[in-house]
Amino acid sequence: MPSLHDIIGALERWAPVQWQESYDNSGWVCGDPSASCTGVLTALDLTPAVLKEAAEKKLNLVVVHHPPLFKPLKRLVYSDPTAQLLVTAIQSGIAVYAIHTNLDNVIWGVNGEIARRLELEHVSVLSPMAQTHRKLVTFVPTQHAESVKNVLFAAGAGSIGTYAECSFSSTGTGTFTAKEGSNPFVGQIGNRHHEPEEKIEVIYPIHGQSEMLNALHAAHPYETVAYDLVPLENHFNEIGAGAIGDLPHPLSETDFLQKLATVFGSTCIRHSPLTGQPLKRIALCGGSGKALINSALAHKADAFFTADLGYHDFFTPNGRLLLADIGHFESEQFTSDLLQSFIQQNFPNFAVLKTGANTNPVHYFF
Ligand SMILES: [Zn+2]
Repeated sequence: MPSLHDIIGALERWAPVQWQESYDNSGWVCGDPSASCTGVLTALDLTPAVLKEAAEKKLNLVVVHHPPLFKPLKRLVYSDPTAQLLVTAIQSGIAVYAIHTNLDNVIWGVNGEIARRLELEHVSVLSPMAQTHRKLVTFVPTQHAESVKNVLFAAGAGSIGTYAECSFSSTGTGTFTAKEGSNPFVGQIGNRHHEPEEKIEVIYPIHGQSEMLNALHAAHPYETVAYDLVPLENHFNEIGAGAIGDLPHPLSETDFLQKLATVFGSTCIRHSPLTGQPLKRIALCGGSGKALINSALAHKADAFFTADLGYHDFFTPNGRLLLADIGHFESEQFTSDLLQSFIQQNFPNFAVLKTGANTNPVHYFF
């Protein structure tokens, strides 16, 4: 039986918490990570119905998309609905974990799943994040360069998109003088030593830094390892907000709105005035995506759909694209399926269920 920590570890390698937005609160909400996991329930939101279902089915880990603790709580009393939820979870022995904007910000996450449901092609991130990676530069005696590269790659360094084991090497000469008390790998104490070295440059995701440095120190022959950690402003098309891709065939605007209604079960779609143009290039963002309207325009999307748009937002496109609000829950509803299938794939023969509760707090009156 895996521990809660084992399951969350897999999720955090898939959608690292370091890639959440600065305002967010993804991660552990409550529980004992070292406890054995009796089963997992996935949901978009934590509600009393979700906790009841987890308790009835004897599942002691609930993985939700929206963090139930967003604003700091000052007291845990039942009069506060959030406090009530947490007290109930703790009393029932149910741990809660939230995987929010870090799952939005990887293309295999919330937005990639929405694009997949719409059968979009050539999908990439709409607004890539900066500072997701750094570069390691290290200097290794020539004969040890290949073995050091091997451990760095094994620790996750050198992966760029669909390429692995990317690095650059140049050769030169390192110098050092070992002082009294040192135990040099080569050279004599008190004499300046010249050593043929390879300079290895390799990028790595910021969340993998300690694992990579541990691997470097374990594999490098020198007592004191020389290395630089360099911040990068590069963007990677797999990490960032929203998504953009192409419909397999152009659709009229009304056919596209009908497709959205069918795929997402939206009973009411609010949209900007029709542009009169067929749609091919589609931008999207699950949940509250109004901040990405200008990115969609900059990428020359024919349509952008998201949720939580205000009255004035519908003026912004000004005929340059079709803007649509399909509902927050509707846009992100497949997240619980995505979480369920990821955890199930990584922990087969183990109870991983998606909640049967509809947690959408928004209802429509016709
Ligand atoms: Zn959301």
